[in-house]
Amino acid sequence: MTEFMENKIKVALVTGQSNQWHNWKVSSEALKLAVNGDGMFELDTFVTPAEGEDFAGFEPTWNDYDVILLDYEGDSWPEATKAAFEQYMQDGGGLVSYHATDNAFPDWVAFNEMIGVGGWGGRNEASGPKVRWRKGAVVFDDGPGEAMHPDPFEYLLETRTPDHPIMRDLPEAWLHAIDEQYSQLRGPAKNLTVLATTMAGPEIENGTGENEPMLMSIEYGKGRIFHTTLGHVGAADTETPLAMKCVGFLETLFRGLEWAATGEVTRPVPDDFPGADMPVVR
Ligand SMILES: [Zn+2]
Repeated sequence: MTEFMENKIKVALVTGQSNQWHNWKVSSEALKLAVNGDGMFELDTFVTPAEGEDFAGFEPTWNDYDVILLDYEGDSWPEATKAAFEQYMQDGGGLVSYHATDNAFPDWVAFNEMIGVGGWGGRNEASGPKVRWRKGAVVFDDGPGEAMHPDPFEYLLETRTPDHPIMRDLPEAWLHAIDEQYSQLRGPAKNLTVLATTMAGPEIENGTGENEPMLMSIEYGKGRIFHTTLGHVGAADTETPLAMKCVGFLETLFRGLEWAATGEVTRPVPDDFPGADMPVVR
Protein backbone atom coordinates (compact mmCIF):
# COMPACT_ATOMS: atom_id res chain seq x y z
CA MET A 1 0.00 0.00 0.00
CA THR A 2 2.69 2.38 -1.08
CA GLU A 3 0.21 5.23 -1.61
CA PHE A 4 0.19 5.69 2.16
CA MET A 5 3.97 5.80 2.52
CA GLU A 6 4.11 9.57 2.87
CA ASN A 7 1.51 9.85 5.60
CA LYS A 8 1.46 6.74 7.71
CA ILE A 9 -0.92 6.23 10.60
CA LYS A 10 1.02 6.40 13.85
CA VAL A 11 0.34 3.41 16.09
CA ALA A 12 1.50 2.93 19.68
CA LEU A 13 1.57 -0.72 20.69
CA VAL A 14 1.33 -0.99 24.48
CA THR A 15 2.22 -4.37 25.94
CA GLY A 16 4.38 -5.95 28.61
CA GLN A 17 2.22 -8.20 30.77
CA SER A 18 -0.27 -10.98 30.21
CA ASN A 19 -1.99 -13.46 32.47
CA GLN A 20 -0.91 -17.04 33.00
CA TRP A 21 -2.81 -18.22 29.90
CA HIS A 22 -1.17 -15.90 27.39
CA ASN A 23 2.26 -14.88 26.07
CA TRP A 24 2.51 -11.17 25.37
CA LYS A 25 6.03 -11.51 23.95
CA VAL A 26 4.81 -13.70 21.10
CA SER A 27 1.55 -11.83 20.49
CA SER A 28 3.11 -8.37 20.59
CA GLU A 29 5.90 -9.40 18.22
CA ALA A 30 3.31 -10.81 15.82
CA LEU A 31 1.27 -7.59 16.03
CA LYS A 32 4.36 -5.47 15.49
CA LEU A 33 5.52 -7.42 12.43
CA ALA A 34 2.06 -7.49 10.89
CA VAL A 35 1.25 -3.83 11.45
CA ASN A 36 4.67 -2.55 10.40
CA GLY A 37 4.69 -4.92 7.44
CA ASP A 38 1.43 -3.62 6.04
CA GLY A 39 2.72 -0.29 4.78
CA MET A 40 -0.14 1.84 6.06
CA PHE A 41 1.16 2.18 9.61
CA GLU A 42 4.21 3.20 11.59
CA LEU A 43 4.36 1.49 14.96
CA ASP A 44 6.21 2.31 18.16
CA THR A 45 6.18 -0.08 21.11
CA PHE A 46 5.79 0.82 24.76
CA VAL A 47 6.60 -2.03 27.14
CA THR A 48 5.29 -1.67 30.67
CA PRO A 49 7.27 -2.66 33.72
CA ALA A 50 7.00 -6.34 34.64
CA GLU A 51 4.45 -7.58 37.14
CA GLY A 52 5.01 -6.06 40.57
CA GLU A 53 7.62 -3.56 39.36
CA ASP A 54 7.41 0.19 39.81
CA PHE A 55 5.19 1.88 37.21
CA ALA A 56 6.16 5.40 38.24
CA GLY A 57 7.88 6.16 34.92
CA PHE A 58 5.25 4.55 32.71
CA GLU A 59 3.83 7.56 30.87
CA PRO A 60 3.32 6.86 27.16
CA THR A 61 3.00 10.03 25.08
CA TRP A 62 -0.53 9.20 23.97
CA ASN A 63 -1.04 12.38 21.98
CA ASP A 64 1.83 11.53 19.64
CA TYR A 65 -0.27 8.69 18.17
CA ASP A 66 -3.32 8.32 15.96
CA VAL A 67 -4.27 5.03 17.57
CA ILE A 68 -3.22 2.92 20.55
CA LEU A 69 -3.03 -0.85 20.08
CA LEU A 70 -3.35 -2.55 23.45
CA ASP A 71 -2.00 -6.05 24.05
CA TYR A 72 -1.97 -5.98 27.83
CA GLU A 73 -3.43 -7.64 30.85
CA GLY A 74 -1.64 -6.99 34.09
CA ASP A 75 -0.91 -4.50 36.83
CA SER A 76 -2.90 -1.30 37.12
CA TRP A 77 -1.38 1.84 35.68
CA PRO A 78 -0.63 4.95 37.72
CA GLU A 79 -3.64 7.23 38.15
CA ALA A 80 -1.98 10.02 36.16
CA THR A 81 -1.28 7.66 33.24
CA LYS A 82 -4.87 6.43 33.29
CA ALA A 83 -6.20 9.99 33.45
CA ALA A 84 -4.03 11.07 30.51
CA PHE A 85 -5.26 8.09 28.49
CA GLU A 86 -8.89 8.89 29.31
CA GLN A 87 -8.33 12.48 28.19
CA TYR A 88 -6.65 11.32 24.98
CA MET A 89 -9.67 9.16 24.19
CA GLN A 90 -12.22 11.80 25.20
CA ASP A 91 -10.49 14.25 22.85
CA GLY A 92 -10.80 11.95 19.84
CA GLY A 93 -8.07 9.34 20.23
CA GLY A 94 -8.18 5.85 18.79
CA LEU A 95 -7.91 2.50 20.54
CA VAL A 96 -7.78 -1.09 19.35
CA SER A 97 -8.35 -3.67 22.08
CA TYR A 98 -6.76 -6.97 21.07
CA HIS A 99 -7.89 -10.36 22.47
CA ALA A 100 -7.22 -10.67 26.23
CA THR A 101 -6.83 -6.93 26.67
CA ASP A 102 -10.55 -7.13 27.38
CA ASN A 103 -9.67 -9.18 30.46
CA ALA A 104 -7.69 -6.24 31.87
CA PHE A 105 -8.61 -3.54 34.36
CA PRO A 106 -11.97 -4.87 35.65
CA ASP A 107 -12.17 -1.97 38.12
CA TRP A 108 -11.23 0.90 35.77
CA VAL A 109 -14.62 2.39 34.94
CA ALA A 110 -13.55 4.45 31.91
CA PHE A 111 -11.59 1.56 30.40
CA ASN A 112 -14.63 -0.68 30.59
CA GLU A 113 -16.68 2.00 28.85
CA MET A 114 -14.03 2.11 26.11
CA ILE A 115 -13.98 -1.64 25.48
CA GLY A 116 -17.75 -1.99 25.94
CA VAL A 117 -17.60 -5.51 27.30
CA GLY A 118 -14.89 -7.62 28.91
CA GLY A 119 -14.35 -10.99 30.51
CA TRP A 120 -12.98 -12.65 33.60
CA GLY A 121 -11.37 -10.55 36.34
CA GLY A 122 -14.46 -11.02 38.48
CA ARG A 123 -16.80 -9.50 35.90
CA ASN A 124 -20.38 -10.49 36.66
CA GLU A 125 -23.93 -9.11 36.58
CA ALA A 126 -22.72 -5.98 38.37
CA SER A 127 -20.35 -5.27 35.45
CA GLY A 128 -23.19 -4.87 32.96
CA PRO A 129 -25.12 -7.02 30.51
CA LYS A 130 -24.02 -9.69 28.10
CA VAL A 131 -24.41 -8.51 24.51
CA ARG A 132 -26.46 -10.83 22.30
CA TRP A 133 -27.47 -10.80 18.66
CA ARG A 134 -30.94 -12.26 18.33
CA LYS A 135 -33.34 -12.05 15.38
CA GLY A 136 -31.23 -9.47 13.58
CA ALA A 137 -30.72 -7.06 16.45
CA VAL A 138 -28.63 -6.44 19.54
CA VAL A 139 -30.15 -7.64 22.80
CA PHE A 140 -28.72 -6.81 26.22
CA ASP A 141 -28.99 -9.78 28.56
CA ASP A 142 -28.80 -9.00 32.28
CA GLY A 143 -28.97 -12.66 33.28
CA PRO A 144 -26.14 -14.48 35.03
CA GLY A 145 -23.10 -15.92 33.29
CA GLU A 146 -19.40 -15.26 33.29
CA ALA A 147 -16.89 -15.28 30.45
CA MET A 148 -15.73 -18.61 29.06
CA HIS A 149 -14.60 -20.25 25.85
CA PRO A 150 -14.63 -23.68 24.28
CA ASP A 151 -11.34 -25.32 23.30
CA PRO A 152 -9.96 -23.53 20.22
CA PHE A 153 -11.59 -24.46 16.92
CA GLU A 154 -12.28 -22.99 13.47
CA TYR A 155 -15.44 -20.93 13.53
CA LEU A 156 -17.59 -18.83 11.26
CA LEU A 157 -17.72 -15.07 11.71
CA GLU A 158 -20.87 -13.37 10.47
CA THR A 159 -21.02 -9.70 9.50
CA ARG A 160 -23.81 -7.91 11.40
CA THR A 161 -23.26 -4.26 10.48
CA PRO A 162 -22.25 -4.35 6.82
CA ASP A 163 -22.46 -0.58 6.35
CA HIS A 164 -19.89 0.16 9.08
CA PRO A 165 -16.60 1.31 7.48
CA ILE A 166 -14.69 -1.58 9.05
CA MET A 167 -17.08 -4.14 7.58
CA ARG A 168 -17.88 -2.56 4.23
CA ASP A 169 -17.33 -4.99 1.33
CA LEU A 170 -16.32 -7.86 3.62
CA PRO A 171 -18.18 -11.13 3.04
CA GLU A 172 -21.38 -11.89 4.95
CA ALA A 173 -19.55 -14.77 6.61
CA TRP A 174 -16.03 -16.13 6.70
CA LEU A 175 -14.21 -18.94 8.43
CA HIS A 176 -11.67 -17.94 11.06
CA ALA A 177 -8.53 -20.04 11.66
CA ILE A 178 -8.39 -22.10 14.85
CA ASP A 179 -8.75 -19.79 17.82
CA GLU A 180 -10.42 -19.26 21.16
CA GLN A 181 -14.02 -18.13 20.92
CA TYR A 182 -14.80 -15.72 23.73
CA SER A 183 -18.32 -15.81 25.07
CA GLN A 184 -20.44 -14.17 27.74
CA LEU A 185 -18.37 -10.98 27.80
CA ARG A 186 -20.18 -8.30 29.78
CA GLY A 187 -19.79 -4.66 30.59
CA PRO A 188 -21.43 -1.25 30.30
CA ALA A 189 -21.89 -1.82 26.52
CA LYS A 190 -22.59 1.88 25.95
CA ASN A 191 -22.32 3.33 22.43
CA LEU A 192 -21.38 -0.15 21.19
CA THR A 193 -21.93 -1.51 17.69
CA VAL A 194 -21.75 -5.24 17.04
CA LEU A 195 -19.76 -5.69 13.83
CA ALA A 196 -19.46 -9.49 13.67
CA THR A 197 -20.63 -12.44 15.73
CA THR A 198 -19.99 -16.15 15.92
CA MET A 199 -22.24 -18.95 17.04
CA ALA A 200 -20.92 -20.81 20.04
CA GLY A 201 -22.67 -24.07 19.33
CA PRO A 202 -24.58 -25.50 22.28
CA GLU A 203 -23.37 -28.97 21.28
CA ILE A 204 -19.78 -28.18 22.29
CA GLU A 205 -18.47 -27.81 25.80
CA ASN A 206 -18.74 -24.18 26.92
CA GLY A 207 -20.91 -23.33 23.92
CA THR A 208 -23.68 -20.91 24.79
CA GLY A 209 -25.95 -21.35 21.76
CA GLU A 210 -25.81 -17.57 21.30
CA ASN A 211 -24.37 -15.34 18.60
CA GLU A 212 -21.40 -13.99 20.53
CA PRO A 213 -19.98 -10.58 19.55
CA MET A 214 -16.38 -10.99 18.38
CA LEU A 215 -15.75 -7.70 16.57
CA MET A 216 -17.19 -4.48 17.96
CA SER A 217 -16.83 -0.73 17.66
CA ILE A 218 -17.41 1.65 20.54
CA GLU A 219 -17.52 5.42 20.83
CA TYR A 220 -16.13 7.07 23.94
CA GLY A 221 -16.28 10.84 24.04
CA LYS A 222 -14.89 11.87 20.66
CA GLY A 223 -12.77 8.71 20.60
CA ARG A 224 -13.22 5.56 18.54
CA ILE A 225 -12.50 2.00 19.68
CA PHE A 226 -12.25 -1.21 17.68
CA HIS A 227 -12.51 -4.29 19.90
CA THR A 228 -11.34 -7.61 18.47
CA THR A 229 -11.62 -10.68 20.66
CA LEU A 230 -9.62 -12.74 18.16
CA GLY A 231 -5.99 -13.86 18.19
CA HIS A 232 -5.26 -16.13 21.16
CA VAL A 233 -1.60 -16.91 21.89
CA GLY A 234 -1.13 -19.57 24.57
CA ALA A 235 1.39 -19.22 27.38
CA ALA A 236 3.52 -22.03 25.96
CA ASP A 237 3.36 -20.82 22.36
CA THR A 238 6.70 -19.78 20.92
CA GLU A 239 5.57 -18.94 17.37
CA THR A 240 2.79 -16.89 15.87
CA PRO A 241 -0.32 -19.09 15.96
CA LEU A 242 -2.66 -19.61 13.02
CA ALA A 243 -5.24 -17.38 14.73
CA MET A 244 -2.93 -14.40 14.21
CA LYS A 245 -1.88 -15.43 10.69
CA CYS A 246 -5.53 -15.63 9.66
CA VAL A 247 -6.26 -13.09 6.93
CA GLY A 248 -9.62 -12.39 8.56
CA PHE A 249 -7.89 -11.51 11.84
CA LEU A 250 -5.21 -9.42 10.15
CA GLU A 251 -7.41 -7.51 7.77
CA THR A 252 -10.07 -6.66 10.35
CA LEU A 253 -7.24 -5.54 12.66
CA PHE A 254 -5.83 -3.25 9.96
CA ARG A 255 -9.26 -1.89 9.08
CA GLY A 256 -10.00 -1.38 12.76
CA LEU A 257 -6.73 0.48 13.25
CA GLU A 258 -7.43 2.75 10.29
CA TRP A 259 -11.00 3.43 11.42
CA ALA A 260 -10.04 4.07 15.05
CA ALA A 261 -7.31 6.46 13.86
CA THR A 262 -9.25 8.34 11.19
CA GLY A 263 -12.94 7.44 11.24
CA GLU A 264 -12.64 6.11 7.70
CA VAL A 265 -11.52 2.92 6.02
CA THR A 266 -9.83 3.42 2.68
CA ARG A 267 -8.27 -0.03 2.42
CA PRO A 268 -9.60 -2.34 -0.29
CA VAL A 269 -10.57 -5.86 0.74
CA PRO A 270 -7.64 -8.09 -0.27
CA ASP A 271 -8.09 -10.87 -2.78
CA ASP A 272 -7.08 -13.48 -0.21
CA PHE A 273 -9.80 -12.58 2.30
CA PRO A 274 -11.44 -15.88 3.32
CA GLY A 275 -14.92 -17.05 2.53
CA ALA A 276 -17.15 -19.38 4.48
CA ASP A 277 -15.63 -22.60 3.22
CA MET A 278 -12.07 -22.53 4.54
CA PRO A 279 -9.79 -20.23 6.55
CA VAL A 280 -6.89 -18.46 4.84
CA VAL A 281 -3.60 -17.75 6.60
CA ARG A 282 -0.60 -15.67 5.54
ZN1 LIG B 1 -6.71 -16.29 24.96
